[in-house]
Amino acid sequence: MTHGEHTADDAVAAAQAESDQGSASRSSVDRERIAAAVLEILEAIGEDPSRDGLADTPTRVADAYAEFFGGVGQDAGVHLARPIPIEEGATSDVVLVRDIAFRSVCEHHLLPFLGTAHIAYLPDELVIGLGALPKLVDTLASRPQVQERLSEQIADTLVERLAPRGVLVVLQAAHGCVSMRGSRQLTSTTVTIASRGALADPAARAELMVLIGASADQAG
Ligand SMILES: [Zn+2]
Repeated sequence: MTHGEHTADDAVAAAQAESDQGSASRSSVDRERIAAAVLEILEAIGEDPSRDGLADTPTRVADAYAEFFGGVGQDAGVHLARPIPIEEGATSDVVLVRDIAFRSVCEHHLLPFLGTAHIAYLPDELVIGLGALPKLVDTLASRPQVQERLSEQIADTLVERLAPRGVLVVLQAAHGCVSMRGSRQLTSTTVTIASRGALADPAARAELMVLIGASADQAG
């Protein structure tokens, strides 16, 4: 047995022990396979995976990946499963939750992208507790993603579960694959918008963009 294989076995055993302890996440991420793959990567870049600083790296990365990808195969709609009916005769105008921090991983490079989500909806008969929206974003972001699709999935899940009159989702994020490689644009951010129903209307959208923009300015 080569030294490399021995280290791989150690890493795999450690990952197994970790998952046997019962992780908080119900994710289906296979930590053993990730640890083995990370060991391969370390060897492939010409490193010595058995040196002190790297010995536990495969299991650390496996833990991190279990967190990053805990939303794979999960139904994000469960966070909206208990909507609250609006009282008969009552009307409700737009609900806007700004500055929901999120992190995801781009599916093209497996590098992180970090940003904020702003979610507005115009209720029809149902509203949802405000705490549900960050959970919805987190589950959908905990998958290999592209920012455009993440925006669309947030909007679609709201439409499916709340049947609102309109939805507007604005995501603003900085991408590791833009800042760390390629063009290395350190300060560039990407904004994506998904809108549905009445909030796809340019005038309604413009009013909300002013409120969202005001929030983004304060943050910046
Ligand atoms: Zn990328």
